[in-house]
Amino acid sequence: MTTYPTLKMLIDGEWIATGHGGSMAVVNPATGAEIGQCPKASPAQLDAALKAADDAFAGWSRTPGAERYAILRRAADLLRERAPAIAAVITAEMGKPRAQAVGEITGSTDVIDFLGEEAKRKGGRLIPSRGQQLIAQMVTHEPVGPSVLLTPWNFPVNLPAKKIAGALAAGCTAILKPAENTPASAQLLVECFVDAGVPKGVLNLVYGDPGPVSEHLIASPVTRKVSFTGSTAVGKQLGALAASHMKRFTPELGGHAPVIVSRHADLERAVAMCAATKFRNAGQVCVSPTRFLVDKTIYDRFVAEFAERTGKLKVGDPGADDSVDMGPLAHGRRIAAMEQVVADVGGNRGEVVTGGAVIPGKGFFFQPTVIANPAPDSRFMTEEPFGPIAGIVPYDTIEDAVRIANSLRYGLAAYAFSGNLDEAHYLGRALRAGMVGINQLIVASPETPFGGVGDSGFGSEGGEEGYLAFTDTKLVMMAKAGG
Ligand code: NAD
Repeated sequence: MTTYPTLKMLIDGEWIATGHGGSMAVVNPATGAEIGQCPKASPAQLDAALKAADDAFAGWSRTPGAERYAILRRAADLLRERAPAIAAVITAEMGKPRAQAVGEITGSTDVIDFLGEEAKRKGGRLIPSRGQQLIAQMVTHEPVGPSVLLTPWNFPVNLPAKKIAGALAAGCTAILKPAENTPASAQLLVECFVDAGVPKGVLNLVYGDPGPVSEHLIASPVTRKVSFTGSTAVGKQLGALAASHMKRFTPELGGHAPVIVSRHADLERAVAMCAATKFRNAGQVCVSPTRFLVDKTIYDRFVAEFAERTGKLKVGDPGADDSVDMGPLAHGRRIAAMEQVVADVGGNRGEVVTGGAVIPGKGFFFQPTVIANPAPDSRFMTEEPFGPIAGIVPYDTIEDAVRIANSLRYGLAAYAFSGNLDEAHYLGRALRAGMVGINQLIVASPETPFGGVGDSGFGSEGGEEGYLAFTDTKLVMMAKAGG
């Protein structure tokens, strides 16, 4: 039985259960039942969080990197210890199967460790000077200042963990506003940082309606940096607002990842990996492999095997049954979005080979779905589905496949399977994306940069880039004091 915590905001070191902006219900997407009431911050409470982050910045930014590391390391250890309980809350809030939720948390502890260590490792650089009077040209990375972190519901621990760890490791203070439907996952993460010894005001947590809260926080003169993960449409709005106030902005937005399967690929291995990975987290993953572009000579076999594997997936309430492969979608809006994609299929616009319908009953369940040969201008081929729908398209030449892969404005992840070395290198170079996976479908690790190009955003979150994203570059040029 999952214990759902009382939801509280964290403002200047105080846990606050009363939102002066009202409250909103949190619903389990597998059952449709209300599991909690989430307080909504009023503008005055948001201002209190901003003031706390501002006041705490001087002390935290001067805290030695080794001390910041020690606190983050303890937070990661606490998160590891608490993983089973937090995983159950992730499952209850957004419907991810338990094993995937535990994997998300384990990955988050590694990210916090890595970014914490960057606080000890990251120096600046010394550049040789041109004149004899100049004795030092020093480049340092200064914490940018109080940062606003806006995170979605699909990885409700991992995405806040990346942003909090990057900000705090770099010496920034932060205000986290998690998604409306996954507040407890974020709260339990924040508790790990507080219990690890993060000083009051350094990390604040607020809840509320995303539009007004984000606008209030971004517009404040206190805020120096905004880090947002979510849809391209919202990212563009928030980016325009951040730019109008000259704030640093890192958007990690949507994607519609192509997967090229060449005639030189190990077909069995490729199809097994693709069918398993596509439906992880019910396809609600920004780097989810989605547009499968398959050499026409192996297309029929690929479609048949992909559909067969997809049809065998066990869908159900992951809170009640640990053996389900796929849970519900996170909320009702996702169901409507899936129905729109499928409604556009038919005639020469593609064929639903398996799935394609809502699963009746309680909760937001949609069948794992495969569409064969969707038309180039279909909704599926042009808009990010962000759900359990895969589309498979045959191609004639590898250059055609690359052209189709690169035809959208998104550019987050792209994948390719090929056993031909020259072709694999060609694909690695030619695919337009922030991250390319060759012969495998993983593009994220704590040590490596994670981010997109085009309408998928800019900047990176993982690796050393995830630390540097919260810093300004500063140059000190020093000359001799006299003759
Ligand atoms: P949505 O746009 O309503 O919400 C997605 C997220 O954005 C939520 O966390 C929400 O809190 C936040 N949000 C919404 N409006 C906002 C605003 N005006 N200001 C600040 N934050 C705001 O869509 P949805 O149906 O919940 O999710 C599906 C869409 O979201 C997809 O298009 C997908 O691209 C995107 N999404 C992307 C990621 C990602 O990892 N890049 C994660 C989750 C959702």
